[in-house]
Amino acid sequence: MGNDSVTRVEQSYPRRMHDVVIVGAGTAGCVLASRLTEDPGVSVLLIEAGHRSRKLETKIPAAFSRLYRTSVDWGDSTTPQSGLDGREVVFPRGRMLGGSAAMNAMMVLRGHRADYDDWAARGCTGWSWADIEPAFARSARAEFPLAELPERHVLAEAFVHAAQAVGIPYSEDLNAEDNAGVGFVPVSQRRGRRFSVLDGYLGAARRRPNLTVVTAALVTRVLLEGDRAIGVTYRVEGEDEVEDEALAGAEVILCAGAIGTPQLLQLSGIGPRAALENVGIEVRHELPGVGANLLDHLANGLLVRTKGVETLATAESLRNLATWALCGRGPLTSNLGEAVAFVRTRPDLPAPDLELLLAPVLFEEEGLKQPTEHGLTLAVVLLRPRSVGTVTLHSADPRALPAIDPGYLGDPGGEDVATMLHGLRLARRILSQEPLAGFVDAELLPGPDARSDDDLRAHIRQLSQTLYHPAGTCRMGSDPVAVVDPLLRVRGLDSLRIADASVIPVLPSGHTNWPTVMIAERAATFVAAATTRG
Ligand SMILES: Cc1cc2nc3c(=O)[nH]c(=O)nc-3n(C[C@H](O)[C@H](O)[C@H](O)COP(=O)(O)OP(=O)(O)OC[C@H]3O[C@@H](n4cnc5c(N)ncnc54)[C@H](O)[C@@H]3O)c2cc1C
Repeated sequence: MGNDSVTRVEQSYPRRMHDVVIVGAGTAGCVLASRLTEDPGVSVLLIEAGHRSRKLETKIPAAFSRLYRTSVDWGDSTTPQSGLDGREVVFPRGRMLGGSAAMNAMMVLRGHRADYDDWAARGCTGWSWADIEPAFARSARAEFPLAELPERHVLAEAFVHAAQAVGIPYSEDLNAEDNAGVGFVPVSQRRGRRFSVLDGYLGAARRRPNLTVVTAALVTRVLLEGDRAIGVTYRVEGEDEVEDEALAGAEVILCAGAIGTPQLLQLSGIGPRAALENVGIEVRHELPGVGANLLDHLANGLLVRTKGVETLATAESLRNLATWALCGRGPLTSNLGEAVAFVRTRPDLPAPDLELLLAPVLFEEEGLKQPTEHGLTLAVVLLRPRSVGTVTLHSADPRALPAIDPGYLGDPGGEDVATMLHGLRLARRILSQEPLAGFVDAELLPGPDARSDDDLRAHIRQLSQTLYHPAGTCRMGSDPVAVVDPLLRVRGLDSLRIADASVIPVLPSGHTNWPTVMIAERAATFVAAATTRG
């Protein structure tokens, strides 16, 4: 079942009232739209800025980075990052049906039990591991299957053995309550093709008469009547001057992602007063937390030229394309991030704070360069960053991209750099162990001359990139700066909820897609409870 399965995309833009209007058809929006329309008595309008993509690269797992900087990517970069020598980091996010789930690396890793107990301890009442685990379990069925890669690359196998040789235990299940250890990554694939929430969740809902999906419609504002959200305004692509309205009888739910949701709230006059006044937007509802607390997983690593092994550098061939298309097998089924190790830099930590990730290819220039020689990437990922940033508006024009400043490596204590450094040294130790060492021809970056801590710190600043996990910009909590309460309702307003990666209060020691699915699953139960009561 491909993207084509979502056939009921309407190109006439409805004015009639729906019960629920959902903004953004990414990971969360697809889950929510599907779950809410299981009740035939609830009508849902799902509005997406992008189109339904027909690009083959959204289906071929190994091709996901080919989507960067194309029409299905918003095309963001961060602001100049002082922690990264002033570089502007390439910052992909999906702009199409399926959102970032249609361009991500398909890794299904939810983190550690302690991550969610920590959410609860921080004021997210009802979000402890025991509370949320049923929602993970509910999602991991036909709609969101966790699969093994059809083929494991020999370098991924070698990495898993080499990591054990330095004392990292093998993990049969990287989604166990304690996710520490090294193992092979479960993926959201079916028969060697991407199988995302778009295929699973939205595909299941595609014939329901109570679901309307519109594409190429940029939502520009949440409509408020007093303190109540009554709908949204949007502009259809190609008709930029015309603003239309979609009304919600029960609720508006924002699923525009960790960048899009705070941007839309600020465009609507909901956010920090000074930031809104800076760009000439009238404050409708002051909420200082909107756009604050931007968290992201930063990645760096070793780039290594390999010998005696065919890597994904040569995966792109007609033969491999035919094998993939006809049999769902071959190197194009690789999601690149085939194996990972989750480790603690100190034994007393409640959850791993570092991830080591093996890709059987050179991942160069933030994924924009196609590899020209055989090699591997052993990435080091900072799982519990102390650095935080912001999403603010450059202008009041809803078509302008917002200012994304993750503040990478900006923590005053310098602990993020120190953790990254620890990871690079550990990565080198793993690389020196058999059977992985046997495939190493030469370390290309940072290179054998980079030995001192200062050399490695310089490498970290010059070459770190995002692992594409922005979160936290509309943080859930019970304190005055939290943007949503534990039922995901925007504080101080009625009939407005947020259900996407922006509500994540602290990044999990895993990846963000499955946690976002879980958040949307829970949001669906909250909305159902509210609409039934009401
Ligand atoms: C390249 C890449 C690789 C990744 N790899 C992985 C991985 O392997 N594993 C993992 O767990 N996570 C991964 N992630 C992260 C994961 O995909 C995201 O955390 C998750 O998709 C977030 O879901 P979301 O619903 O919050 O946002 P999104 O999926 O980004 O959805 C937001 C949607 O809202 C739409 N939108 C935004 N603004 C508006 C507006 N004003 N009007 C209308 N529509 C709007 C967008 O176009 C988009 O479709 C990756 C992400 C990227 C970009």
